[in-house]
Amino acid sequence: MSTIFKKIIDKEIPAKIVYEDDEFLAFEDIYPAAKIHVLVIPKKEIKNLDAATEEDLMLLGKLQLTVAKVARLLGVNESGYRVVTNINSDAGQTVYHIHYHILAGEKLGVMA
Ligand code: AMP
Repeated sequence: MSTIFKKIIDKEIPAKIVYEDDEFLAFEDIYPAAKIHVLVIPKKEIKNLDAATEEDLMLLGKLQLTVAKVARLLGVNESGYRVVTNINSDAGQTVYHIHYHILAGEKLGVMA
């Protein structure tokens, strides 16, 4: 089932896009949890890592490289950043379209 991120991909609702190519999109999180908080998503709709398959092997690799590319574009690769992906309810996943959070721009607290 499609999510709000599909509407962002299709430009049906606005987002502050920081990077886009044929396969991936990166945009600012609407409720930032750090000074810099960007979400990186594939345009292909995959629910989360648990739903990914062997067929997604290349896409997942490229997704990670795209995260690193976006971090360089944001200028946080040297100072540092955290990458998080939530899977299902105990992790607090709210949007069921796989996404990596990039958190940066300040010293980040210890993770739960
Ligand atoms: P998660 O809890 O890992 O599923 O993360 C979903 C993230 O999407 C949350 O951090 C939300 O703040 C963010 N989010 C939800 N709707 C939007 C939106 N329309 N534009 C940007 N970020 C959003």
